Amino acid sequence: MNNNMNRRGFFSFVAKTAGIAVVAPTVLTAVFSNSAFAQKKRGGDNPAAGGAMPMVDPNDAVAKAVKYVEDAKNAPDAKGNHCANCGFYVKKETRNGKEAGTCTIFAGKLVYGPGWCASWNKKA
Ligand code: SF4
Repeated sequence: MNNNMNRRGFFSFVAKTAGIAVVAPTVLTAVFSNSAFAQKKRGGDNPAAGGAMPMVDPNDAVAKAVKYVEDAKNAPDAKGNHCANCGFYVKKETRNGKEAGTCTIFAGKLVYGPGWCASWNKKA
C-alpha cells in the first residue's frame, strides 16, 4: 500500500487481492484436474500402472487398418494367435485385469495380450 492510498482505496485493493487469491487456485485446480497431466498423474485408467502409456483404441486409423481387436476371440482370422505370442509384443503390465504390452506397430501405446491384429508375427 502506498502512502497516498485512502481508506476506500485500501479496502478496494484488499478485496481485489483477496478475490485473486480465491479465484486463481480455483481456476488452476479446474484446469489441471481436466488436463492430460492430471490424468497421467492419476494413473490413466490404471492407477497401479502409473498411466504412462495409453491403450490402443481399436477405432484408431492404424488399428483399423491392421484389424486390431482387444480380444482375439473376436477375430476369426486369429486362429489361436494373439498379441502375447506375437513377435512384435513385449509384456509390460496389467490393465483392466488383462495383460498388456508394447507393440512395434503402435509406438507409445499398449495393446492387450489377448488382442490380435492382421500383422501378427510368430515370436522367434
Ligand atoms: S503386431 Fe502383434 S502385438 Fe501388435 S497388435 Fe498385432 S498381433 Fe498384437
